[in-house]
Amino acid sequence: MNLTRFPRVGLTLSATPLEYLSNLTQHLGGPNLYIKRDDHTGLALGGNKTRKLEFLIGDALVKGATHIVTQGATQSNHVRQTIAAANKFGLKSTVLLEERVGDGHDDYYANGNVLLDQILGATIETRPGGVDMNKELEAVGERLRAAGEVPYLIPGGGSNPIGALGYVVSALELIVQANEQRLAIDHVVHATGSTGTQAGFLVGIEGSSGHIPVIGVSVRAPREKQEENVRRLARQTWELLGLRGEFPDAAVVVNSDYVGGGYGVPTEGMIEAVRLLARFEGILLDPVYTGKAFAGLVDLIRKGHFRKGENVVFLHTGGSAGLFAYRSILAPRPAFAR
Ligand SMILES: *Cc1c(COP(=O)(O)O)cnc(C)c1O
Repeated sequence: MNLTRFPRVGLTLSATPLEYLSNLTQHLGGPNLYIKRDDHTGLALGGNKTRKLEFLIGDALVKGATHIVTQGATQSNHVRQTIAAANKFGLKSTVLLEERVGDGHDDYYANGNVLLDQILGATIETRPGGVDMNKELEAVGERLRAAGEVPYLIPGGGSNPIGALGYVVSALELIVQANEQRLAIDHVVHATGSTGTQAGFLVGIEGSSGHIPVIGVSVRAPREKQEENVRRLARQTWELLGLRGEFPDAAVVVNSDYVGGGYGVPTEGMIEAVRLLARFEGILLDPVYTGKAFAGLVDLIRKGHFRKGENVVFLHTGGSAGLFAYRSILAPRPAFAR
């Protein structure tokens, strides 16, 4: 698969590690657990959006952009990584934060990703929850154009066919690592939100005849809707790459049993999953995406969904900056009282 004909900048340091989780494998007594460390992509605390941004910023530069505009939830990891990527290439950035969740705790609005957005120095605007954020994005683009800028609009999560190419790369990278380590991967599990990760990953796997079953654990939409959204973007990405035949729709599998009360709303399973991986392996998940996806993986293991001896890879998509925004839930009693 030839990705070199697409404009791309370098943001990730190198291939992210593929590691065995020996303690947790033993503790859970199910399949062999591995983790692909896409939380270690190396840009301002890293995460999955960095891979997408290699192609998105590449495209922006070719188009002569001067100003990156994007949007996300208050604690968006995508927004944080986008500002960092724009900074690295001398581009200004304006970000729109939608007040999509909020438990009234100050940390949610001031700490975690919001703090990092401020340090990184973008122009930050907020919007009330429920507005059409893509329309808002267009409006800001118009405003900047009128002021003589060349805006480049990146949709929420960087999820369009260009951004999804970053996850085609991730899948190809994982296949190379599995071959090197002589590891026959039976399943991949990861969090799915704006769909670029799952769509790109599946195009990479299926486009190279990898045929590894992938479960996307939804953090927001119900199963059918999420599968439809992933399929649409996967087909577009397949087409962009000019792959032969058609994207195999049946490869798209989503499980939406672990959303709980909604996007960003904590669940007991998420809290347990964050603690499990931290205490058995010293690895930090996040409260919005990977915590819920890992909760799903743990529950499926307990229900006997995977056979002992099978090799399951959890794709860690990052987000641990969000832990600081959920302090009141993860550590309700501070360790120190002054
Ligand atoms: C955005 C994000 C996801 C979901 O990826 P999509 O491509 O939006 O589906 C998963 N994990 C983390 C930490 C994220 O920030």
